[in-house]
Amino acid sequence: MSQVPSITLNNGLEMPQLGFGVWQVPDDEAEKAVATAIESGYRSIDTAAIYENEAGTGRAIAASGVARDELFVTTKLWNGDQGHDAALRAFDASLDRLGLDYVDLYLIHWPVPAADRYVDTYKALEKILAEGRAKSIGVSNFLPEHLERLLGETSVVPVLNQIELHPQLQQSESRALHAKHGIATEAWSPLGQGKGLLDVPTVVAVAQKHGRTPAQAVLRWHLQLGNVVIPKSVTPSRIAENLDVFGFELDADDLAAFAALDEGKRLGPNPAEFNVGA
Ligand code: NAD
Repeated sequence: MSQVPSITLNNGLEMPQLGFGVWQVPDDEAEKAVATAIESGYRSIDTAAIYENEAGTGRAIAASGVARDELFVTTKLWNGDQGHDAALRAFDASLDRLGLDYVDLYLIHWPVPAADRYVDTYKALEKILAEGRAKSIGVSNFLPEHLERLLGETSVVPVLNQIELHPQLQQSESRALHAKHGIATEAWSPLGQGKGLLDVPTVVAVAQKHGRTPAQAVLRWHLQLGNVVIPKSVTPSRIAENLDVFGFELDADDLAAFAALDEGKRLGPNPAEFNVGA
């Protein structure tokens, strides 16, 4: 029913190219926002143990009336739960809070280089995958060096890497590495957290040219690059606006203008140094 196209992951499963993120949304509010998103037509939801809203997300899913196999649910393992056995326990707890028998995608949230446990942790995810309790497994915030090591020391290629990515941080090195290994690129903070990016004159001009909002122009840019996107909003009109991005197309001039916006500007931490919670 959904107008959102799917991408085919490297394990043959389909994932909607646009989903709904719930970072920084308190549990009760997440329940409402996810309900609104599903009602609006979103079929992919991105949460994480550390967001403390898996329970609300699960309640919205249960009440949605949408068949489980039409939804794509992602959650993530927090830094303090890395390590083989701890990861298995953390996954059970996430599944329990979500009230689900399986997730569609389970991610290691950050590599946490100082702890040096992401390879062992990923082996636990491989076990969860083999048991069918996650249909797909992947990583988040892995720099090329972390991904290369994982590929060398484990058997299952991650289906995707969820990284900070927006027009001011275009991540060309990671995207090229992902493409080489059949790993999808998923963009977090795709709208640059709704801060300065949506006021950048180039973004405003491209949006105006197409009779769209800056947020829609940015999401369209991601989709045309091939990224999976998970914009977040708790405002019903914006939830709908962010999904209404399939009726127009950026042209070569627009894409060239966006390409020039890259300034390597991180809004979040550098994964090489982010060891919080470990
Ligand atoms: P985002 O880029 O999606 O921006 C969200 C903010 O932009 C909103 O809070 C709102 O202020 C504004 N906004 C949303 N829609 C708008 C619209 N149509 N017009 C104007 N402003 C609008 O930022 P995000 O929430 O940081 O990222 C999206 C999702 O990515 C998160 O909810 C989470 O699921 C995921 N994420 C993952 C990680 C990770 O480490 N893996 C980190 C951050 C976020």
